[in-house]
Amino acid sequence: MVVCQKIHEIKRLIKTTKSEGKSIGLVPTMGALHAGHLSLLNAARNSCDSVVCSIFVNPLQFNNKEDYHNYPVDFQEDLKILEKSGNDIVFMPEAGDMYPESHDIKLDFQFLEKTMEGKFRPGHFNGVALAIIKFLNIVNPDMIFLGQKDMQQAVIVRKLLSEMSFQTELKVLPTIRESDGLAFSSRNKRLTGAQRSVASNFYNALTLGKELLSKGESPSEVSNKVEVYISSIQGISLEYFEIVDSNTLESKTAVNNNEDISLCIAGYVGEIRLLDNIILND
Ligand code: AMP
Repeated sequence: MVVCQKIHEIKRLIKTTKSEGKSIGLVPTMGALHAGHLSLLNAARNSCDSVVCSIFVNPLQFNNKEDYHNYPVDFQEDLKILEKSGNDIVFMPEAGDMYPESHDIKLDFQFLEKTMEGKFRPGHFNGVALAIIKFLNIVNPDMIFLGQKDMQQAVIVRKLLSEMSFQTELKVLPTIRESDGLAFSSRNKRLTGAQRSVASNFYNALTLGKELLSKGESPSEVSNKVEVYISSIQGISLEYFEIVDSNTLESKTAVNNNEDISLCIAGYVGEIRLLDNIILND
């Protein structure tokens, strides 16, 4: 496995890889790797000749400094996991190399960045998009692999790729969950035992919502019941629950079975913010 920290190193490696006619897959991560990341890497390996896993805790996408400083980091463990999984290239830039100058450019994704995560994390998607653009320019991948877990991010990256005419193809992979339904997340590593045991209630709330919608209840009735469910559980608090069109992220006031609809949730267990969603027709 080759580990590149410097942008010029990875660019050189990419040039050689491309000159050998190999296709390149990019799996961008913030490290603290888990089964969700491994599933993306696996999919990338199945579709591309060479796979770049980037590990970069992107300061621009954290609107909350404390969250940034508390984000779990264990590069040595990540490298062991990657080596064991048969990964070939790791790109671990430092923030100073990624952003050597001021970063004044602001991208505006309009409604897509104003709803759900955007409401609670102002500037988050601007930071995500700037890092993704940099990675696309540095790695020039044929395919980029993202998780459905961060559904709004995937919608925004799809928009970015299409409107900016990037040649990279986006693949969005299903959310990998623990046996009680809790979606794997790097932030789960910060949960105490007691917090971990209530954390799966976000998933339970999503499945409750899905069941009620399937029985014909309206989105507003379902939202009320899901909010009541979450408020009945000690130790967790809801930031939002939304039933949305999976492509436009517009809230649904009625549900039609042949539409792509997702149920999305975010909230806190103690200080830890968790995010999840499920697709209605999955
Ligand atoms: P992160 O390291 O949290 O920025 O995530 C890196 C990538 O892994 C993103 O595309 C996420 O959507 C994806 N991801 C995170 N958790 C999961 C999961 N449980 N299942 C599948 N993909 C995931």
